[in-house]
Amino acid sequence: MSPWLETLSPDDRRVLNHSDVLASNCEVLVVGGGLLGLVTAYFLAERKVTVQVIAEEPRLGAGSEHGTGALWPSAFALRCPDVELHELAQQGRDQWAKFAVRPEFSFDWRVNGLLELSPLARDETAAERANRALDLGCSVTAVDAEQIAQLEPRVTTDWASRGGLHFPSEAQGHPVKSAVSLVRACRKRGVKLASGVSFTAVHHGDRIVGATTSVGELTFHSLAVTTHASSLLKLGMHPPPVTGTSVGFATSPQPPLLKVGLLADYPLVQLRSGDLVTSMPIDQPPRIPAGVFAELGSVEWTRIWSVAESVSTLPSLMPDAINAWLSHCGAEDEFLLAPALGRLLADKIRS
Ligand SMILES: Cc1cc2nc3c(=O)[nH]c(=O)nc-3n(C[C@H](O)[C@H](O)[C@H](O)COP(=O)(O)OP(=O)(O)OC[C@H]3O[C@@H](n4cnc5c(N)ncnc54)[C@H](O)[C@@H]3O)c2cc1C
Repeated sequence: MSPWLETLSPDDRRVLNHSDVLASNCEVLVVGGGLLGLVTAYFLAERKVTVQVIAEEPRLGAGSEHGTGALWPSAFALRCPDVELHELAQQGRDQWAKFAVRPEFSFDWRVNGLLELSPLARDETAAERANRALDLGCSVTAVDAEQIAQLEPRVTTDWASRGGLHFPSEAQGHPVKSAVSLVRACRKRGVKLASGVSFTAVHHGDRIVGATTSVGELTFHSLAVTTHASSLLKLGMHPPPVTGTSVGFATSPQPPLLKVGLLADYPLVQLRSGDLVTSMPIDQPPRIPAGVFAELGSVEWTRIWSVAESVSTLPSLMPDAINAWLSHCGAEDEFLLAPALGRLLADKIRS
């Protein structure tokens, strides 16, 4: 079981496991009950659109169970060449911050910041990397060993002596509780959410009017497909072009680390005991040098699972159909991007 699921209250579990009765017709059918589908449904419902969400898996939230909960647009900006996605990443974090202050949302939102230790064998110094981050619009300070020691006393001096970067506004959230909150918020706004229902075919023309699902036919005005790329291909739909690639790693179960995420070649680590997240370079995953944190040495790498997928793609119209939108999330940044992508998708559907 996902470590995130283990921390849910019985009430929260019920929220994810409950399936509403399917409405046979609606203005927008959202296929996919992961974070992207839920956020899209939420923003559509805010715009007074009637929405039916269907999800193949029995539990809503799906992929959020595996996320590491990082909301770090700066790390994203430094490794992703796409400026539009940088902006979406910033908007994504800011949107989660806005959700966090609403009473119906409760997902352990914390602005902890991110301390990134400078790469050892890189051709970029901490100051150069900080300048690049500043040019990309990130909030960042280059920090020396003394400042690192104040921020995170557990870092050994060998590593700290090379300096690092501190991104003070980076945040974290509980990905599954985010899904729970969105499900609650969607239902409150009248969205119907049916899990265990798979989408198998669309009734095609230049305008799609209906779909076949495992439990019957549905009709709608517009369609938003937010499943993974592989699901799109299975349905004969071509996913939008990919904007980048990445690799994610996480420990499961978690001790002694709370979590590890690997962004490009930077592992991002959160200790069970602390709030701080840090990263460092490695040559080849998963060869993380021992000694930065004592705890790292005792992680059993055989218990680490990994995923390598494309990163998020912007919503695009389905070829030959004027009312069907496709978007999908990839490996490790879509908890971050989901609110911005979902909002964009909702805007496009309404336009
Ligand atoms: C190891 C790991 C670490 C991660 N860490 C982070 C992180 O630190 N920060 C971050 O921002 N993100 C992170 N993520 C990414 C984030 O968790 C996921 O990208 C995000 O949850 C994906 O949401 P989604 O809605 O696109 O897809 P999913 O949650 O996978 O949802 C897809 C939905 O489509 C449904 N579906 C599929 N096919 C069909 C069909 N034919 N009919 C009906 N329904 C269908 C599924 O049932 C599901 O409901 C991480 C992911 C992984 C794997």
